[in-house]
Amino acid sequence: MIIVMEPDAGDAEIAAVEARIRAAGLDVHISRGTERTLIGAIGDERKLDPEMFDPLPGVERSMHILKPYKLVAREWHRASTIVNVDGAAIGGNAVQVIAGPCSVETQPQMNAAADGVAAAGARLMRGGAFKPRTSPYAFQGKGVEGLTMLRNAAARHGLPIVTELMDVRMLDAFLEQRVDVIQIGTRNMQNFDLLKEVGRVDVPVILKRGMSATISEWLMAAEYIAAGGNHKIILCERGIRTFETAYRNVLDVTAVAVLKRETHLPVIVDPSHAGGKAWMVPALSCAGVAAGADALLIEVHPCPPEAWCDADQALTPAEFGALMDKLDALSCAMGRTLERRRSEATIEAI
Ligand code: PEP
Ligand code: MN
Repeated sequence: MIIVMEPDAGDAEIAAVEARIRAAGLDVHISRGTERTLIGAIGDERKLDPEMFDPLPGVERSMHILKPYKLVAREWHRASTIVNVDGAAIGGNAVQVIAGPCSVETQPQMNAAADGVAAAGARLMRGGAFKPRTSPYAFQGKGVEGLTMLRNAAARHGLPIVTELMDVRMLDAFLEQRVDVIQIGTRNMQNFDLLKEVGRVDVPVILKRGMSATISEWLMAAEYIAAGGNHKIILCERGIRTFETAYRNVLDVTAVAVLKRETHLPVIVDPSHAGGKAWMVPALSCAGVAAGADALLIEVHPCPPEAWCDADQALTPAEFGALMDKLDALSCAMGRTLERRRSEATIEAI
């Protein structure tokens, strides 16, 4: 960290800054220029915060030199992390697709969804059993029973399951149901107690971007999970809130490119919650893959008009199949491959 002193700062003020740095266990380097003095803190500057210096007399401003996140930064870990979910590698050369309905509704609905997404080649299945709804009067999800329905449906095709955890008290139920990937939704990106708890388990986590979170805040949230010991973190860009009202959110593809540079963690894109309309999903999916996303998280419902949640943005299984074909070609053009689950007929033939 560097502390820039005001032009008229005196020795006593410089000494006070020095004392505060040393009290935190760091060394000090003072550089006296003709105009002003710069004080460098030498050591692990993550122990320091501008708030420790900015209020002191004679201090103009202080700033970090290193990134505030360490475990998730590519600066400290050059190789890309690959998160392996039951054989599906997220973060490698293959592009993965996670698909399924917004919410778990009934067992027949989930079975039909699983059949549809598996037939189109998705390698993982999603479905929310605990739903973060804007209105307390809206459908809140099937709860623990929904986890079982998701597990039963996905097991028909051997698909690993991805589902959202909103409350630490439900973590044991997730572990009992052997949820393959825990999703932390946009509304909980900075629920630090929840992040600490999922940081303690050995289960991959999809950390969605808070709807108004900066890249730095998002990476600091990931750092919370990593600091607990769980390094199986997948970042999911799901659109951010802007002034635009013509669509639900703005898919920030720039974030994908920036994250690929800033962090070694896999980055995935959710085109469904970004656009909020089914017809936008193919274009946004392609944009995500073109920007370098390692996977897509796509909402697919056996009968979208009847969906209990996010009906407008769900693809039908047929639309999803057509999109998978397009993504196959696009991934090849990007020098990657779309990992597609082999159909039952192919598996039986082997
Ligand atoms: C979801 O994936 O169903 C969901 C609620 O997403 P988000 O947290 O991105 O709104
Ligand atoms: Mn949804």
